[in-house]
Amino acid sequence: DQSRAPDYLSGLNPEQREAVESIEGPVLVLAGAGTGKTRVLTTRIAHILATGRAFPSQILAVTFTNKAAREMKERIGVLVGGAVEGMPWLGTFHSIGVKLLRRHAELVGLRSDFTILDTDDVIRLIKQLIQAEGLDDKRWPARQFAGMIDTWKNKGLTPKDIPEGDARAFANGKGRELYAAYQARLKSLNACDFGDLLLHPIDIFRRYGDILKDYHQKFRYMLVDEYQDTNTAQYMWLRLLAQRPKDVPQNVCCVGDDDQSIYGWRGAEVDNILRFEKDFPGAKVIRLERNYRSTEHILGAAGHLIAHNEGRLGKTLFTERTSPDDEKVIVHAAWDSEEEARAVGEEIEQLQRNKHNLNDMAILVRASFQMREFEDRFVTLGLNYRVVGGPRFYERLEIRDAMAYFRLVCQPADDLAFERIVNTPKRGLGDTTIRTLHDYARARDVPMLAGAADLIETDELKPKARKALFDVIQSFKRWSELLETTPHTELAEQILEESGYTDMWKNDKSAEAPGRLENLKELIRSMEAFESMRGFLEHVSLVMDAEQNEDMDAVSIMTLHSAKGLEFETVFLPGWEEGLFPHQRALDEGGRSGLEEERRLAYVGITRAKRRCHIWFVSNRRIHGLWQSTMPSRFLDELPAAHVDVAESESSYGGYGRGGYGQSRFDRADPFANSYSTPGWKRAQANKTDATRDNWGSRSGHAVERIGYGESGPRTKTIDGE
Ligand code: ATP
Ligand code: MG
Repeated sequence: DQSRAPDYLSGLNPEQREAVESIEGPVLVLAGAGTGKTRVLTTRIAHILATGRAFPSQILAVTFTNKAAREMKERIGVLVGGAVEGMPWLGTFHSIGVKLLRRHAELVGLRSDFTILDTDDVIRLIKQLIQAEGLDDKRWPARQFAGMIDTWKNKGLTPKDIPEGDARAFANGKGRELYAAYQARLKSLNACDFGDLLLHPIDIFRRYGDILKDYHQKFRYMLVDEYQDTNTAQYMWLRLLAQRPKDVPQNVCCVGDDDQSIYGWRGAEVDNILRFEKDFPGAKVIRLERNYRSTEHILGAAGHLIAHNEGRLGKTLFTERTSPDDEKVIVHAAWDSEEEARAVGEEIEQLQRNKHNLNDMAILVRASFQMREFEDRFVTLGLNYRVVGGPRFYERLEIRDAMAYFRLVCQPADDLAFERIVNTPKRGLGDTTIRTLHDYARARDVPMLAGAADLIETDELKPKARKALFDVIQSFKRWSELLETTPHTELAEQILEESGYTDMWKNDKSAEAPGRLENLKELIRSMEAFESMRGFLEHVSLVMDAEQNEDMDAVSIMTLHSAKGLEFETVFLPGWEEGLFPHQRALDEGGRSGLEEERRLAYVGITRAKRRCHIWFVSNRRIHGLWQSTMPSRFLDELPAAHVDVAESESSYGGYGRGGYGQSRFDRADPFANSYSTPGWKRAQANKTDATRDNWGSRSGHAVERIGYGESGPRTKTIDGE
C-alpha cells in the first residue's frame, strides 16, 4: 500500500525521506552536523527490511565505532517494531574485515583461526626482524617502522607498492624488504595486524573475481556513516564491493560532512567525498539543511567558526529548535586549569540542582591529559563521571607504568609494580630471568626486589641479566633514599628520567607517543597538590576506586575525537588556548591543512550541544613547575558576537567579563561587530596578565610559550576505532 506512509517515514522531512527512499542506485548524503544523517541511515535500513527488499544478512552497514553499531541495531529494532534478527554485517570497517577474512583466510596464506596482533606484539616482531637483518635497532627503532607500516596500510600499499623514497628512508634502504619480511613473518605466525583486516580482503577481492561477485550479489545494500573519515584503504575496499557489474544495481549510500573530517592525522581522506560522484556515475547527492539538534545560537556559533576554513564544500543550516530563553554560547575565562575544573564542577552541580541529568552533560577535551584535572575534581565532589572512548587518566598505560615506579619506591614489597616495570623500558630482562627471580623470591618468601638483591650474588643468572638487575636494584635503592630528602615531584621526574622511561617514549615515533609524554608531565603536575609521594599514591587509589558503570547517571568526559556523532544537552569545552587548541603540532605543521582540521574539531565540539555550550580558556598553565601565560584560542576570535556571551567574572582573580575590559565589543558598530575582534581578547588577556604579574613576579607578559601538548583522540589501533 503506497498511499499510507509507514510510521518510521512520517517523521522525516522531504529531503531525509528522499534519501531513505532512493533505494536503487548510489546516494551520497552530504550534510552538516545534526541534520539527521545517521537517522537517515538507520531509517533506510529499517525501510529496506520492512519492505522486504533484503534480509538483515544482505545489508552491509559501516559505523565508526562498535558502540555506534550497537545503538544503530537497537534503533532499527524500534523502527521496524521488534528485534532485528541478526545484521551480521553491521559494524566497523575492522569488525567487518575480521569476519570477511575469517571466511577466506586460506586465500592469503592464513588459517581461519588467525590471531590479531596488538601494537606491542607488532613492535616486538619488527624489532626481531630489524635485529635479524643485522641492523642497529636503536638507530632504526621498531616503533618508528611500525608507524610507517601503519601509514602504508592506511593508504592500501603493499610492500611492492610503496614509493621508492619511503622504502629508502628506513633501515639503510631496506624498508621494502623489511616490510615484506614482516608480512611473511605474520603469515608464518598465522597472524595479522589491524591494517591487514582491510588489506587482505582487498587483495582477495582483486585476485578472486568470483568471490567478489558473490559479495556483489550478497550485499544487496551498503551503507556508510561518517564517510568523511574513511581512509584510502577503506575507500578501496568499499569501492570494490560497491562497484558492481552493469547488471547489478549499485546500492550504496554514504553519509558524511566534510566539515567534520577530523582523522586526517590517521590517514583519512576527505577527498573521498569529492570522488564519490566520479566513482559512482549518476549518484544522487542529497543535502540536508535542517538541523534537529541544536539551538540557533549553537548553530550560529559553529557555522560562523567553520566559515573560516577555505577548503570546504559549504552548506547552509537552519534550526527550528529555538526559543527566546535559549542561552548563547558562553565563553568563560579561568586563571588556570584547576580553577577551570572547579568552575565547571560548580556549574554541573548547579544544573543538577535544577534537575538536569548528568547523562546529558559532557566535557570534551582536545588532549587526554586535560581529563586528569576534571577526574580529580569530580572525585573530590563525589560527582559521577565516565570516561568514554578510552581509559581514565590514571588507567592509561604510561600512567600505570609511572605509578608502578613510584609505588615500588614507596613500597619495595609491591611485586605487581616490580613485575610491571622491571623490564619497561627494555633492559634485557626476559621472561626466563623474571621467572627465575619469581621462583627464587617465592621459595624464600621475600619480595622480588629484595630477592633480586640476593639472586644477583648467585650464578643462577646470565651475566648480562645479572648486570641489568643490579642496575635496577641500585636505582631503586637510590630513589628510596631520596624519598625523605627530595621534593616528591622532583624525585618523580628524576625517576622517570633515570629509569629511561621518559626516553622510551621520546624515541617512540608512533602517533600516540607525544600524548603519552604529555600525560606523564600532567602526572607530575598533579602531584604538586600533595605533600608527599605516598599521599599522592593514596589519592590515586581513591580515584581509581570511583565507580564506573554503564547505567549510572554520570557526566561524560572524552576527547573531541571520540565525541563524533554524539549529542548532549550541555557541552563543556575546556582549554581553548593557543598551543592546546589549536594544537601546537597542527600549528607547527604550517600551511592551512593542520589548522583547518583543528577548526573542524572545534566545529564538531560545539555542534555536539543541543542547548548549552560553555567554552573555557585559562590564562596560565603550569609547565615543568613554571607558570606560563597562554593566549586565548584564535577560534574564540572567530565566534560571532550575536550568538556568544562572555561570562560575568566568576574567576577568583576577578575583573574579567563583559565590563571587565572596558568597552564591550558587542556594542561596537564596526565592521568586526559580528565577530570577536582580536583586540578584544588580547586586551582581556593583557588585563589578566597585569592582574597576575604581582603574584608571579617574573612572568613574561603575554608572550606565547611553546607548549608541546599531547595528541588526543582514540588510540590509533583499536579494533573498532573507539
Ligand atoms: P552528526 O553530523 O553530528 O553525526 P547527524 O547528521 O548524524 O549528526 P543525527 O544524529 O542523525 O544527525 O540527528 C541529530 C538529532 O536530530 C538526533 O537526536 C535525531 O534523532 C534528530 N532528528 C533527525 N531527524 C529528525 C526529524 N526528522 N525529526 C525529529 N528529529 C530528528
Ligand atoms: Mg551522525
